[in-house]
Amino acid sequence: MSFIDRHIRAFLLVELLQGMFLTLRYMFRPKITLNYPYEKGPLSPRFRGEHALRRYPNGEERCIACKLCEAVCPAQAITIEAEPRDDGSRRTTRYDIDMTKCIYCGFCEEACPVDAIVEGPNFEYATETREELMYDKEKLLANGARWEIELDLRLRADAPYR
Ligand code: SF4
Ligand code: SF4
Repeated sequence: MSFIDRHIRAFLLVELLQGMFLTLRYMFRPKITLNYPYEKGPLSPRFRGEHALRRYPNGEERCIACKLCEAVCPAQAITIEAEPRDDGSRRTTRYDIDMTKCIYCGFCEEACPVDAIVEGPNFEYATETREELMYDKEKLLANGARWEIELDLRLRADAPYR
């Protein structure tokens, strides 16, 4: 572009007008941004978020303390202790997950024979301290109760592909 062309374009504000025209064009197109946290995008049924321990509809814990999840966890983030109950069934007395170690691989969920430990749709659980990310059984069961409807829908949607 010659010296004169450059000055004519600068004098007529050509580039400014081109920019404004571009803005105007996008004003009337569907928006591709989301007003997070008020709007959220869709999540896959396989999304691997915060962990939860589920119960059966009658309130009984699903977990049978087989420790497969503990064995398969590559980050060794899961710690389980178990004892038989009076009725002879085996249940955990301790189920901890160190969420600072977890790499969200989903192996624990895949290994579980009774869909007890699952990774749910919640990704909004940032904390201010490491201690808050040491989840115990109570916290995991509370997550299960809180997210059960979504977890159930998610597992049903993914079941045909497992
Ligand atoms: S998602 Fe992977 S790393 Fe995290 S607790 Fe489960 S098995 Fe371990
Ligand atoms: S959560 Fe599942 S895999 Fe882990 S100990 Fe319980 S039943 Fe076994």
